[in-house]
Amino acid sequence: MTNRHFIHFSFIILLSAVLILNGCAKIGIMARADYGTPTIWASGSCSSHPEEQTKHDQVVVMDPVMCEYKQESHRDPKGNTMTVHNSNIGTSVTSWVNVSVEKGPPTNLSQYADTRGGIPDHYGCSTKWYDSFASIDVGGTRTEVIWGENCSMDGSTGLAIAFIEQEHYVTVFISGATSSATLSNDTTLTGILSGISWVSSKPWNTNENTRSFSINKNTRNVKCKITPFVKSTNLSKKEYLESIGLNKPKSKEDAEFCFLFSDNFSDQFRRDAMELHDKLFEIIGAYDRFVYYVYTLDGDNEEAISILNEIGVWGGNITSIEQVFERRSCLSAFWRFADFAEAKLNEYSFCNWPNPFEHTPWIANQKNKNIARYEVMHGWAHEYFHHFQRAHTFERALGMSSECCGLYNPIEAPAWWVEGAAGVFPNYFLKEIYPDLSLTKENNFPTPKRKGHDGSVEDKICSAFSSGGTWSYWIFIYCDEEGVYGEVKKSMMGQGSRDVDIKCKEFTAKEESRDTRKCGVGGSFIANVYLAYITSYETMFFGILEDSWEIGFPASFEKHVGMTMDEFYVQFTKFMREGNIDDPPPQGFFPKEPLSKLVDFSSVDSG
Ligand SMILES: [Zn+2]
Repeated sequence: MTNRHFIHFSFIILLSAVLILNGCAKIGIMARADYGTPTIWASGSCSSHPEEQTKHDQVVVMDPVMCEYKQESHRDPKGNTMTVHNSNIGTSVTSWVNVSVEKGPPTNLSQYADTRGGIPDHYGCSTKWYDSFASIDVGGTRTEVIWGENCSMDGSTGLAIAFIEQEHYVTVFISGATSSATLSNDTTLTGILSGISWVSSKPWNTNENTRSFSINKNTRNVKCKITPFVKSTNLSKKEYLESIGLNKPKSKEDAEFCFLFSDNFSDQFRRDAMELHDKLFEIIGAYDRFVYYVYTLDGDNEEAISILNEIGVWGGNITSIEQVFERRSCLSAFWRFADFAEAKLNEYSFCNWPNPFEHTPWIANQKNKNIARYEVMHGWAHEYFHHFQRAHTFERALGMSSECCGLYNPIEAPAWWVEGAAGVFPNYFLKEIYPDLSLTKENNFPTPKRKGHDGSVEDKICSAFSSGGTWSYWIFIYCDEEGVYGEVKKSMMGQGSRDVDIKCKEFTAKEESRDTRKCGVGGSFIANVYLAYITSYETMFFGILEDSWEIGFPASFEKHVGMTMDEFYVQFTKFMREGNIDDPPPQGFFPKEPLSKLVDFSSVDSG
């Protein structure tokens, strides 16, 4: 596509008042006007890859649509200021559409057609006429338009159409069609025209952002970009999800996600949340379709709930925050506008999290509020890691068929891995980003250190004790992996402690289910570190996942680890029972490198 520049030739509007005095003396008074800035943009259905487009409720493969948007300011010869919202939407050098939206020209089309032709002279149209019985879809069906045939722009010949949209004067130049008859035969051009929507903020240029978003909002309570709903496709579910890059790490700008807050969260909390997720996007990649909602029951949730309804969460009929609270769960999923399996095309991860400082027992019970903030961050990283895991299983569920609630064709991923890998990740992640966090910097917190639970700040951040609900254990927020190793080793050697949730003497298939596991959070943590120790961190974090959609997790485990899961349980148990009970882990058991050196998350390849 050529690098067309945006050219706008202003209408010349005569707003000068001419006063005739005494029938002879003429004094012209120029009244300069500023017509103001248009409040709408013509937004195209843009893409940068020849993948899929939603068209007439079907996903069809077509040429990429490139979009560029520009606000321009002009002054007409009378000195009037004109601001124009200019959109260039095209699929090729010859097939493109330019839309100019402005305020100022009269909004009475027929009168304007009579007086000045209605389509600016710079389009050079050979014929122009007013039509009140038209039928053309340009961001909605138009019946009243001014047609201009055999027009030209930027060296291309085309058709021009002018009409009124929301009290704005809109002129469209369509390159590649010269008459309404040739236009109606060109499905690419009519597709571009009918794909136009009217939005209030400047859309992303294709090179800034390759996606079109039907929700694109950035306010204090809503940071949200959601692509249009897809009703059906002739691709298989996996093919479709692959075609939109669901399993690909994206840039923050490109990815589809939504963060929603009640109005009464502090700025500090919001900053913590966005800062932490930005770091996750940097290290692990921004993955599409992540919806995160944190709320208080007594806060104002109107804005957030209206977005949930717009997205179509649970059908899009949420009327109160209590309904959201009833179904609280992180990380669960929803299907837009429907609750049936076909809607897998529109499945989104959903973190529906009531205020953690109030409703998450072990965080609510944490007396030190700053430690609680690190715990919340640990939780955010854990849940986002689940979102990452889920992205690579496509429409198949990340779980076991033996587990609760009728999962959709689960890959048979065991709880010890799903939860354990999602337990290793936040620890290594927090260790890397700890010095850069505002929470750390603003409090001048020292490097955390295990000091035998002596109550010092460095010890507390390293391993805080938390209890609440079914949880009661030392949370290794930042650094106490060796402490956990010691607990697991003691337990497996028959001398477990009552204080911690590690209650197993061996590691068995019982660890595959959340209902039967005995080795606790710590046990699955160490099992995954061991798995990485005998393979690699990339294998543990996502290598096994890469083939799981196709052959299931157990077979993929065997392929990537070189033994069955049962053989792994025996080997791990034997390893933990070796030597003396107080022996530290062998050299190199815990890595020294930061997470981003250890693992290249962008190398994940699950397609
Ligand atoms: Zn989890």
